[in-house]
Amino acid sequence: MTEKKLTIAIDGFSSCGKSTVAKELARKLGYIYVDTGAMYRAVTLYCMRNGLISDDGTVDNENLKKVIGDISISFSYNKLTGANATLLNGELVEDEIRRIEVSNKVSYVSRIDFVREQMVRLQQDMGRQGGIVMDGRDIGTVVFPNADLKIFMTATPEVRAQRRFDELTAKGEKVNFDEILENVNQRDYLDQHRDVSPLRQADDAIVLDNSNLTRDEQFAIILQMVEDAKRK
Ligand code: C5P
Repeated sequence: MTEKKLTIAIDGFSSCGKSTVAKELARKLGYIYVDTGAMYRAVTLYCMRNGLISDDGTVDNENLKKVIGDISISFSYNKLTGANATLLNGELVEDEIRRIEVSNKVSYVSRIDFVREQMVRLQQDMGRQGGIVMDGRDIGTVVFPNADLKIFMTATPEVRAQRRFDELTAKGEKVNFDEILENVNQRDYLDQHRDVSPLRQADDAIVLDNSNLTRDEQFAIILQMVEDAKRK
């Protein structure tokens, strides 16, 4: 009998390690991994480059709507390193979309209904065959409401800000801890209070607070959840 290929949804607050764990899990299971945050970041970068978003986060909806269907977002997978990289209209933008300037604007773009509709459509297409780990904010609630396993990850804002600070500093970016903490809190607020698909835990999601867990401890817990889901 061939093994059941699961659809796994990992949602939660920003910077709580969703992508790291989702990527590791996909590699371990031989599944596709999709980072949906990267898709909203790529659209945001497109807006920044094309004068479609102002410094205060006001988006030129009318003109963005005209081009949203033509913005191509894809991922390239490096089999040797296991790294996933985001492509915007064929251009590698993986590093650029992680910059704080993009993080500061992304919630203004991700709250727009027609942007979400387009991204959700692309995400559902990517997951049609199953065998997928997708992380984001609305995967268990909107993109795959029938996912086999839904995990809702969380950690305190301070722990999350510290992780993001370490990550950006390691890449050589000069950042300020308080600015990052402010960004984490602001994104939490905007993501939870937007009108369209706000961040919320699906009723059937399992909550995983990793504030006091090591990566290995967390991974062991998640592997157990996967085993349980396979038996269902
Ligand atoms: O996961 P990451 O922090 O990279 O996501 C960046 C932003 O993209 C989030 O703050 C949120 O505004 C948006 N997002 C979303 N829905 C998703 C994934 C991300 O609205 N499924």
